Amino acid sequence: MLIVCAERARVEDELAGGVLGCPSCRGRLRPWGHARARVLRCVAGDRVLCPRRARCRGCGVTHVLLPDVALLRRRDEVSVIGAAIEAKVAGSGYRRIASRLGVPADTVRGWLCRFAARGELVRGHFTRCAVALDPELGPMLPAGSGIADALEAIAVAVRAWVLRFGPGDPWRVVSRLSGGLLLATRVPAYPWAR
Ligand SMILES: [Zn+2]
Repeated sequence: MLIVCAERARVEDELAGGVLGCPSCRGRLRPWGHARARVLRCVAGDRVLCPRRARCRGCGVTHVLLPDVALLRRRDEVSVIGAAIEAKVAGSGYRRIASRLGVPADTVRGWLCRFAARGELVRGHFTRCAVALDPELGPMLPAGSGIADALEAIAVAVRAWVLRFGPGDPWRVVSRLSGGLLLATRVPAYPWAR
């Protein structure tokens, strides 16, 4: 799987131009049909995603190109998941967050438990991203808890991204920087380590 820009036309251009690299071998990707359609619950209402599929010219592996509004295997838009994480770090409980966001309480609790369990891993990953984006970066100060430290590292990495590449929706940047794996069971790939 590869996280791409949510603007369809741009992804088509990038595929046609051979500028998308294979996450397995860095070979060039070319169009290879579509993945199955899925519904993404968004702030603006349900949205049907029909992600592009691409095949690597080098290793022959096919990849789903998931738009950066989503995270792997999550039915909700990344900005909604991000808002829940921010509210939790600010001190809200999961039931209150769920009713404010209009998402089932168990779903929110699942996100927050996974984020807390991966806090140290997320903090480490986004700290490395931030330093890769801005080598001049100073040390990060402890924010008071595991999840607050993880969110602080995310915020610093997003700021570094914006400074380097220009404005972007913060949680979409997070989806990209985590390779869609913010709340997955796998370790996020580290795009600059190759
Ligand atoms: Zn490849």
